[in-house]
Amino acid sequence: MTGAKGGIGGAIVTRLEHDGWNVHAVDVADADLTTREGNRAVVDAALARFGRLDAIVANAGFQHVAPLRDFPEERWDALLALMLTSPFLLAKYGWDALSASGEGRFVAIASAHGLVASPGKTGYVAAKHGVVGLVKSLALEGAEHGITATAICPGFVRTPLVTAQVEAIAQEAGISEERALEEILAPQAVKRLLEPEEVAGTVAFVLGEHGRAFSGVPLTMDLGWTAR
Ligand code: NAD
Repeated sequence: MTGAKGGIGGAIVTRLEHDGWNVHAVDVADADLTTREGNRAVVDAALARFGRLDAIVANAGFQHVAPLRDFPEERWDALLALMLTSPFLLAKYGWDALSASGEGRFVAIASAHGLVASPGKTGYVAAKHGVVGLVKSLALEGAEHGITATAICPGFVRTPLVTAQVEAIAQEAGISEERALEEILAPQAVKRLLEPEEVAGTVAFVLGEHGRAFSGVPLTMDLGWTAR
């Protein structure tokens, strides 16, 4: 389970531990997941600790907002490394152990931005679309090994990742944070933020008995964003 100190990650750890899972929870202080060594170290540490691997939840991520012409190339590289290549590496390095589990589950916290785009978010949108494709491929290859793969696609969630965007919009446009939040929520039919616990509950469901049918799909929880 990656990105464990973040808003969604913290809620996932709490929920899974409550449900009786032994969770190897990591964040950037434990391993930099933009590197191959970091991803290898996380899988090795989980196996050393528990001797088995039943599920991988690839959750770590960040946002960078800038128009294409100004988009820093190193930020593009980092977005793709963390939100697309890291899930690939975690799946690759953990594959044999997930297979040995007999009921292996791979979950990526993707985004509604894995299905639709917004301006100024080229790196994030490309990485999230990519991880939805990765999950579909993993589902096909995993089927014969009892491994399922699912991409959870939330709309906007109340976490530091979104708070930072609200603050930036308010500052740049000279508007209140309340008004900035209204702008952010414009694409959603239901004008509220999701709570991290709602995403954690969906992860728990996917890892549970009735989650195994949801392989190879984006599981959308976006309050009507992509319904249009
Ligand atoms: P967050 O900023 O609260 O947490 C992200 C975590 O990832 C942080 O704890 C951070 O330390 C960690 N991280 C960043 N770079 C890392 C690195 N190089 N190596 C290891 N860990 C690193 O954000 P969040 O909102 O909880 O986001 C979690 C996931 O959910 C992300 O993949 C995000 O794209 C996705 N998501 C968020 C929203 C939202 O509205 N907040 C919506 C849809 C999807």
